[in-house]
Amino acid sequence: MRAGAAPADSAAPTGAARPRLDVARVRADFPILQERVHGKPLVYVDNAATSQKPRQVIEALLRYYATENANVHRGVYYLSEHATALYEGAREKARRFLNAREAREIVFVRSSTEAINLVASSYGRTHLGTGDEVLVTAMEHHSDIVPWQLVCEQRGAALRVIPMDERGVLCVDEVPKLIGARTKLVALVHVSNSLGTINPVAEIVALAHARGVPVLVDGAQAAPHLLIDVQALDCDFYTVSGHKMFGPTGIGLLYGKAERLDAMPPYQGGGDMIRSVTFEKTTYAPLPAKFEAGTPHIAGAVGLGAAIDYLATLEWHQVEAHEADLLVYATASLAGVPGLRLIGTAPRKASVVSFVLDGVHAHDVGTIVDREGVAIRTGHHCTQPVMDFFGVPATARAAFAFYNTREEVDALVAAVRKVREVFG
Ligand code: PMP
Repeated sequence: MRAGAAPADSAAPTGAARPRLDVARVRADFPILQERVHGKPLVYVDNAATSQKPRQVIEALLRYYATENANVHRGVYYLSEHATALYEGAREKARRFLNAREAREIVFVRSSTEAINLVASSYGRTHLGTGDEVLVTAMEHHSDIVPWQLVCEQRGAALRVIPMDERGVLCVDEVPKLIGARTKLVALVHVSNSLGTINPVAEIVALAHARGVPVLVDGAQAAPHLLIDVQALDCDFYTVSGHKMFGPTGIGLLYGKAERLDAMPPYQGGGDMIRSVTFEKTTYAPLPAKFEAGTPHIAGAVGLGAAIDYLATLEWHQVEAHEADLLVYATASLAGVPGLRLIGTAPRKASVVSFVLDGVHAHDVGTIVDREGVAIRTGHHCTQPVMDFFGVPATARAAFAFYNTREEVDALVAAVRKVREVFG
């Protein structure tokens, strides 16, 4: 089972005698996987952009709007109390999913992007001053760069960057040298969306904490692949996007240690986040309401709760073994295509394969494989500094979920070979 089962940085055992993931059964839960595009079976391998949704999530959304919809935290009538119980129930599911100590450490937000902006705005505004520094990594998504740049600009602070090597592995040895007296926060991605690298988060947290510096972890790409345990990681903040972990769009999670969140000012003002309001002075509600101004995305939280329940029905060691197999198989198969260069070859990777084809722009790769029914992502993946580092304008990226198959990898590789034929 998934929830709270093992530390996030450790791979679950994959004994040879254990039964494998029943992929056909899992696929039957995802209606969209039966679709055809351009007359071909859909091969959806753009899961790092967004994942598909199981029937259980779709039905939870339908049920909510059809029979359970009311605003939360306000009504004294049955439906409102029921909707509140569903919403707060989803928070408890999220707490268990991340293994947070307390439910008030879970803030519902729109996405990882909003979670990072919340911390950059609230924590950053109060802690950053002239000459201070925020340490990020060379492989951050723009959403873990730009919010920090915005607040750094306002406060006269600066970004510093942990470098990586040509495999896409962070130079962890550099970290102690980069954390100085002016470092106020380290922000790093758990799993890189463009390279697939799984970063040694617990190790970097320990290095930062040894110098009293808090750490935010961007978990947008980790939540669909790894068991997350924020207590084992000991990070101060952790961010999740619901839509990348089989839940709805427009809902995400910010985990923050209670003492950190308690000490931070609100991010947005409005209803639900106050204790009392007068024209002279407003006092704020306790956690987590302080950070949830206005009517939240109630249906989104319910849907995310359903996604968490769904993941809990899967044997996670089977999921990990299956995704590891897809990664190895896809890496080897793609490497056999003439003129194909893999971008991101770290020894610890999630099931993400980025590549470039000699003499072919990534967008042309994407357009041609689409005609074969294969949905991949092409572009800079909101990681332009990564593209600059590797000296490419863009890559093509296949990102596999547990519902993908070796046959789909074969379809991808056959489609990429067609691109090769077209361009010679
Ligand atoms: N961080 C990473 C590593 C991502 O891959 C993404 C989405 N591509 C984000 C943050 C932002 O997520 P969202 O768009 O859901 O806010």
